[in-house]
Amino acid sequence: MPVETNNKKRQIKPPRIRQFGGSLLILLTLLFLLNAIVPSFFGPRLPQVPYSDFIAQVQAGRVERAVVGGDRIEYALKTQTPDGKPTEQVFATTPVALDLDLPKILRDNKVEFAAPQPNQNAWISTLLSWVVPPLIFFGIWGFFLNRGGGGPAALTVGKSKARIYSEGSTGVKFIDVAGVDEAKAELEEIVDFLKSADKYTRLGAKIPKGVLVVGPPGTGKTLLAKAIAGEASVPFFSISGSEFIELFVGVGAARVRDLFEQAKQQAPCIVFIDELDALGKSRGGGPMMGGNDEREQTLNQLLTEMDGFDANTGVIIIAATNRPEILDPALRRPGRFDRQVVVDRPDKIGREAILKVHARNVKLADDVNLGTIAIRTPGFAGADLANLVNEAALLAARQNREAVIMADFNEAIERVVAGLEKRSRVLNEIEKKTVAYHEVGHAIIGALMPGAGKVEKISVVPRGVGALGYTIQMPEEDRFLMIEDEIRGRIATLLGGRSAEEVVFGKVSTGASDDIQKATDLAERAVTLYGMSDKLGPVAFEKVQQQFLEGYGNPRRSISPEVAQEIDREVKQIVDNAHHIALSILQENRDLLEQTAQELLQKEILEGTQLREHLNQAKAPDELAQWLQTGKLSEDKPLMQSLLV
Ligand code: ADP
Ligand code: MG
Ligand code: ZN
Repeated sequence: MPVETNNKKRQIKPPRIRQFGGSLLILLTLLFLLNAIVPSFFGPRLPQVPYSDFIAQVQAGRVERAVVGGDRIEYALKTQTPDGKPTEQVFATTPVALDLDLPKILRDNKVEFAAPQPNQNAWISTLLSWVVPPLIFFGIWGFFLNRGGGGPAALTVGKSKARIYSEGSTGVKFIDVAGVDEAKAELEEIVDFLKSADKYTRLGAKIPKGVLVVGPPGTGKTLLAKAIAGEASVPFFSISGSEFIELFVGVGAARVRDLFEQAKQQAPCIVFIDELDALGKSRGGGPMMGGNDEREQTLNQLLTEMDGFDANTGVIIIAATNRPEILDPALRRPGRFDRQVVVDRPDKIGREAILKVHARNVKLADDVNLGTIAIRTPGFAGADLANLVNEAALLAARQNREAVIMADFNEAIERVVAGLEKRSRVLNEIEKKTVAYHEVGHAIIGALMPGAGKVEKISVVPRGVGALGYTIQMPEEDRFLMIEDEIRGRIATLLGGRSAEEVVFGKVSTGASDDIQKATDLAERAVTLYGMSDKLGPVAFEKVQQQFLEGYGNPRRSISPEVAQEIDREVKQIVDNAHHIALSILQENRDLLEQTAQELLQKEILEGTQLREHLNQAKAPDELAQWLQTGKLSEDKPLMQSLLV
C-alpha cells in the first residue's frame, strides 16, 4: 500500500457518543430535578413577601383571603385599580416553621383561609418521577454499551486509552528540547520518514517500525516525543505503559489490539508508549516475581501487533523507558524496537542550552551568566535545570526584584543540592559549635584533595531534611571518570567532619552518620565494582542492574565466604586509611581549624575569597602524597586513632 503523504486535511474524529440520546437524557433529568426541588414550578409565579410583612398586613386588615400550605402561603390583598374599582393582588410568602398562632391571627382579623387544592399539575411530577429514573438507568447502561461496541459492559475497558494529539497541539517543538542533539537528530529523521515516505520507499528502503528512547529520568524523553508530535504533522497517539495493565487479565491485550487498529486507520502516524518498562518487563521474571499473566499477555500482544503490520504502512512506534535493561529481549529484535536512541544527562554545553530554553520567558539581570550556572550544575538533568530556573525566578519574585539576578540562581542551586534553608531550626551552643568544627573539617580536607573541585561555601544554617550545616564543593568542569586518588580523597573529605569532631572534642556526635554511609558506599564500590583493590583485583563482585537509575542496590555475585571476608576487610582498610589521613591533616592544621571555625560561628556562612583565604593556608602532611598515590600508609606510623585517647 502506498503511503499517503498528504495528510494535512485528515481530521481526527473524536470517539462517537450517542449525542442526541445524551442531551435528551440530560434535559429530562434536569426537569425531574427542578420539579422535585420547586413543587410550584408549573404553577403561577407570585411576588414573594417576607412572612413578617404578611402578618403585618393581616393585622392591618388588608388581607382578604389566604391559602395556607405547609411551606407556602398565597394571599390576596384588597386594593383598588387606578380608576377606583376594588380589585385584589396576589402574593406569596414562606411561613416560619410551625407558627401555631397563625390560624388564630387569621381568624381574629377575619381573613378567609383554606388549605391548598391538590396540585393540578401533579400528574407531571408523578409521570416524571415514574419515567425518569428508569430512563436514566437505561441511558447510562446504553452509553456504556455503545462505547463497548455492543459487547457486555465489562469489555469496554479493553479500549485503548491513548490520547490523540493532532499537529502542534502538544505545543512543543524541537527548539524546546535542547542539549540532546544526537537523540534529536535521530528522531528528526523519523519525522522525515513520515513526512516524505516516498523518498525512502522508492529506493526500497524499509522505514523503521520502532524506536526505543532510553535515558535517566528527567532528561527529556517524554518532551522529545511531544516535540515529534508537534513537528510531525501526523496524528500522534500517546499512551503510558502502565495504562495497559488492569485488574482483569486480557484487558491490556485488548487495549493493545485496539490501539493498533486505530493507528492503522490513521496511518501515517506515530504511536508513543511512555514508560514501556511497565509492560515490557522480561517475561519469566525470575522466581521472586512470580508469574504475571496479564503483563505477559499484553506484551505478547504488543509483539504480535508489531510483527503484524507492514513496515511501510507508516505507523512508527516510539517507546521511552529509563530501565532498558529489564525489557524483554524480544522487544529489541530487528523488526520491533530495533533502533535505540540514548538521551543522556546533558554536558556543560547542553546544560547551558537547556537553561537558555527555560530562561526564554524569564527576565534576567545583566549579571546572570548561564554558562557559569551550567558549570556549577554537573549531573543536573533537563528537568532539574527547568526546576532551577523556576526556583530562581520564584526567589527573585519573593524579593520583589525587577529581574532575576545571579544570587537567586546560586541560592536556587544550593536549594536543589542541599534543600531549603531552615533558619527556624535553632541549635544550642554545643550543637552549633560541633557543626561548625565538623564543616570546617570537611572544608580543610576537601581543599587539599585532588579533583573534587574547590570548596565554595561552608554554613552552619540548617538546610534540607537532615543537614545541620553544609559544605559545598563546586567542580570546575564536567567529570566522567573518577581516578583512584580522587576516590580516596573523596572518602577522606567525607570523613573530615567526624575527624574534626574527634580532634577538637575527643568524642563524636551522631551528625556524621550520613557522611560515614557515603564514605563506606564509595569504598565498597571501589572494591566490588571498580576493581581497585590490590588483593582482590579487577573482579566484579556486584551485578550492575540499573543503567540509568541510581540508588538501587546491586546484588552480590555468588562469592565464597572467604572472598566476602576479604571484601569486608578491604573496604574497612580503605575507610580506615582515609580516616587516618583526615585526622592527620587536621592535627597538622589544628590552628587553622580553630580560627576558621570561630569565624564561621560568628558569621554563620563563609564563602568566596574570605573562605579561600583561610583554606589556602592548609598544609598537607608528609604522608598525604604517598597515600593518594598508593592508598597505603607508611608501615611504621601508628594509626592516628590511638593518638586520640
Ligand atoms: P523524562 O525523560 O523523564 O520523560 P521529561 O521529558 O518528562 O523527562 O522532562 C520533564 C521536564 O524537564 C520537561 O517538561 C522540560 O521542562 C524539562 N526538560 C527535560 N529535558 C529537557 C531538555 N533536553 N530540554 C529542555 N527541557 C527539558
Ligand atoms: Mg517521561
Ligand atoms: Zn558532614
